[in-house]
Amino acid sequence: MKIAVLGAGVVGVTTAYFLAEDGHAVTVIDRKPGPGLETSFANGAQISACHAKPWAGPHTPLQAAKWMFEPDAPLLFRPWRWDPALWSWGLKFLANCTDGRVRVNMDRTLRVALYSRAVLKALRQHTNIQYDQQLAGILHIYRTPESFAEGRETAAVLSAMGLAQDVLTPEDCARLEPALAHAARTDLVGGLMSPEDESGDAHRFTQEIAKLAAARGVRFRYGATVRKLEAERRTVTRIVTDQGDETPDAVVLSLGSYSPMVARPLGLKLPVYPAKGYSISVEITKPEAAPTISITDESKFMVFSRLGNRLRVAGTAELAGWNLDLDPVRIAPLKRNAVSLFPEAGAYDNLNAWTGLRPTTPDSVPILGPTVYDNLLLNTGHGTLGWTMACGSGRVIADLIAGRAPEIDMEGLGLERFG
Ligand SMILES: Cc1cc2nc3c(=O)[nH]c(=O)nc-3n(C[C@H](O)[C@H](O)[C@H](O)COP(=O)(O)OP(=O)(O)OC[C@H]3O[C@@H](n4cnc5c(N)ncnc54)[C@H](O)[C@@H]3O)c2cc1C
Repeated sequence: MKIAVLGAGVVGVTTAYFLAEDGHAVTVIDRKPGPGLETSFANGAQISACHAKPWAGPHTPLQAAKWMFEPDAPLLFRPWRWDPALWSWGLKFLANCTDGRVRVNMDRTLRVALYSRAVLKALRQHTNIQYDQQLAGILHIYRTPESFAEGRETAAVLSAMGLAQDVLTPEDCARLEPALAHAARTDLVGGLMSPEDESGDAHRFTQEIAKLAAARGVRFRYGATVRKLEAERRTVTRIVTDQGDETPDAVVLSLGSYSPMVARPLGLKLPVYPAKGYSISVEITKPEAAPTISITDESKFMVFSRLGNRLRVAGTAELAGWNLDLDPVRIAPLKRNAVSLFPEAGAYDNLNAWTGLRPTTPDSVPILGPTVYDNLLLNTGHGTLGWTMACGSGRVIADLIAGRAPEIDMEGLGLERFG
């Protein structure tokens, strides 16, 4: 079958790889000059099924309201902006802020994340793909008894759903990650270890999987912007780009935060809104002072990952539209916290700052699967866990196109859940 994958982020390219494995003639279309150059470029690098708890929860609205006037808050939401897309998304988000929805959404996300982690492991064994991976787990650190208690509650729920985590003392944290020794003595009240989770450079992975896909015959059309999809009755017949058209048999939509714009003229309303985040990457100058295990600082909403000789620090979320300006006020907390936890690790005065738009759904669950168009599938809306869920999502889409039953239950993962 002739299949077009729209978008060469980590999600689109991984999908193209699995489709090529099935013997399809695949074309990937992206406006950028290479793979993984938008949100998949410099993210937090975690393969973190342990982060399956959705953003929308009973305490989120009040917390977001408290942060509304703090320009460097971890989550910045300004509802008075003229932005109908944000309001419509925000109402759906509010509807997901109940205990009951948290459980349902966590179960759905964890289902995809655990499967995806397993698919990534198998892919690594099969191809020996290298992407500065660290297979040492993810360590969550806590600085207040309240946040630690909340973390343990979430861990108990995740454990019942199939993801085990170990409860640690500050001394255990320092033993596992010696670079945390100072913080463990002065600042930490405890930790949670998710031993099966991992980290690695999503951009390098996307580049490498693109090479593996190309070796299996995938054609990459870079520098081509998708203008629109044309359809006759319930079939997409043509992809119009600024560099010529394509007429594939099937289309997979993986345009990250830009997916709604291309879907909307077809009458498909995708509740995907960009949650802007930042990262800094710092060259490591003293290896023993930098962490090896990937760390989530739960009190500061930040993650730390070691990528070869670089330390990546990522976090913050801002619901402010499709805006990619680098705001120094939002970057400053990342540097401040890195310097306080790992003061001697790297050259903090010479850092690379980056921002990207997480394609976020109101329930934090991606949108996977068919549409009312018989040859258009969705693989988008992965939000804060797109790297974590890319391999499983790609496999599922390839299975659906091949007419095979996916290896996970697809209940609640499709667009139909939004009505
Ligand atoms: C600060 C930050 C930290 C993060 N940390 C993590 C983490 O630790 N772990 C994790 O799992 N996830 C993390 N994420 C989320 C993850 O990066 C994203 O979910 C993931 O990159 C989304 O991949 P994608 O392929 O869907 O989108 P993208 O990578 O954005 O790819 C979409 C592609 O579509 C192309 N495109 C868009 N519109 C058009 C058009 N009209 N025509 C042609 N091409 C088009 C773009 O050029 C782009 O290449 C983080 C995100 C941020 C911002």
